[in-house]
Amino acid sequence: MKQKKTRLRAISLNYDLFQHETLRPPAPATLYTKILQDAARPLPIVTPPVKLPGQSLPTIAELYRIFDELNWLYWSGKLPSVTIKYSKRMLSAGSYTPSSKLIKLGQKYHQLFPHELVDTLKHEMIHILHYYHDAKFKAEAERVGTSIKATYHPSLQRPPKFVYECPKCRREYPRHKRMRMHSCGSCSGRRFDIRYKLRLKK
Ligand SMILES: [Zn+2]
Ligand SMILES: [Zn+2]
Repeated sequence: MKQKKTRLRAISLNYDLFQHETLRPPAPATLYTKILQDAARPLPIVTPPVKLPGQSLPTIAELYRIFDELNWLYWSGKLPSVTIKYSKRMLSAGSYTPSSKLIKLGQKYHQLFPHELVDTLKHEMIHILHYYHDAKFKAEAERVGTSIKATYHPSLQRPPKFVYECPKCRREYPRHKRMRMHSCGSCSGRRFDIRYKLRLKK
């Protein structure tokens, strides 16, 4: 009899460890209570997958993860760690700078060709070992299955910095570099003619 009493005490003590809510017997679950419970629950905030330009590319953290994966897959993890960045200005696919151990990936380029990103990364990773596009580079590119040349797209051409104009026929000469002693090809022929010296329009 004494033994039974202590056991009861122990049980009531254990009950105190629980929170009150859990001790309350649950209401019989009917469809109606289920609906009430669901209604009381705050609605989850669903953010639609918005793809803004520049946001569809992998994050820098993801790029490092891809780098590690490729490094293990193709080079047994032997490539040294490098810095990886996107370049907003770069119009080409990518570059590798050995002095700063830096892989730059062209943001504009990969917004046009997002499916080429891994290919570009692989290409730049080969440059860690082989600076030039020489025979060794090509053999490595073949081994890891990457291309040597990037895809061409007209929007990736840098607009000309200077536009020159012929004072006579008004023909325009867009150029990336400054011209000093050049005359219009159609007016002066093959030799420089001061009368048709091109002038800077903008
Ligand atoms: Zn290259
Ligand atoms: Zn001319």
